[in-house]
Amino acid sequence: MTAIDTGVQDLGRRHPEWKPWLAVVQEILREAANPIWEALVPARTEPQQSKVPLLSGARLALEVRPVRQLVEQLIGTACRSGTPKMATLEPVLKAELDVAALFRASLCQDGKHAKETATVLGADPEAFEAVAALVAVPFLLACNRRWASAKSVSWMEGYCPVCGAWPAFAEVRGIERSRYFRCGRCSGEWQAHCLFCPYCGMTDHNELASLVPEKGGATSVIEACKRCLGYVKTFTKLQGSPAARVILDDLASVDLDVAAFEQGYRRPQGTGYTLNVTVVDDGVTPGRAV
Ligand SMILES: [Zn+2]
Ligand SMILES: [Zn+2]
Repeated sequence: MTAIDTGVQDLGRRHPEWKPWLAVVQEILREAANPIWEALVPARTEPQQSKVPLLSGARLALEVRPVRQLVEQLIGTACRSGTPKMATLEPVLKAELDVAALFRASLCQDGKHAKETATVLGADPEAFEAVAALVAVPFLLACNRRWASAKSVSWMEGYCPVCGAWPAFAEVRGIERSRYFRCGRCSGEWQAHCLFCPYCGMTDHNELASLVPEKGGATSVIEACKRCLGYVKTFTKLQGSPAARVILDDLASVDLDVAAFEQGYRRPQGTGYTLNVTVVDDGVTPGRAV
């Protein structure tokens, strides 16, 4: 059994009501081992531009068939999960989806595209958006691996240097207590100032609050910004989580999200940087136009 399977099982024991969704997450994390994603990552030789995530400007020639299979696999797992909302995704399995457009929307966190597609197909928009958001994750994990040395060491933006997403949480690591943000999409990490709101750039300590929830324990706090009302879950640990664990760590700490929500704080929707990405069908799959 892999560390992912153990992590998923552990979460399922603590939150049995999440099992249907965890099955979909497990599927996508297993898919990350598929070498096709690594092969799709464009080579990078030039240094990272200031403020621009590495993925922006990329042109991807997508082999449509395996992506279609992945979408069908995820939707199939979601449909079998037994929740009424996920069961509404059934018509998606019979539809002729524009896979390149779906993949691009997933990369760019364009929830509007997924919702519109779901509405046309008669599926629940929220359920489809949640599954569609995961489709690009194996590719994003591969980008983070392949571009490890291309990342700017002086990156200090609030969003991920690889994919432009907002952080899923922060880690305060080791005895030197260095603070890193972690991306819940590509699992990327980047160093962060101690007092800094990633969403609005606030650095005034009077505007930043540290909330310690009852259930969080001594190692988990919510760092909240009174100006933009955003928050970041922050965990003190010896070392950073392995890449494949970031999504699970984010899920496992949902108590903190609930506590932050109850205090009036929110994670912003969408992405921190609007990516400019072109996704085209590579033409290998017969019968489909580019
Ligand atoms: Zn990222
Ligand atoms: Zn803020």
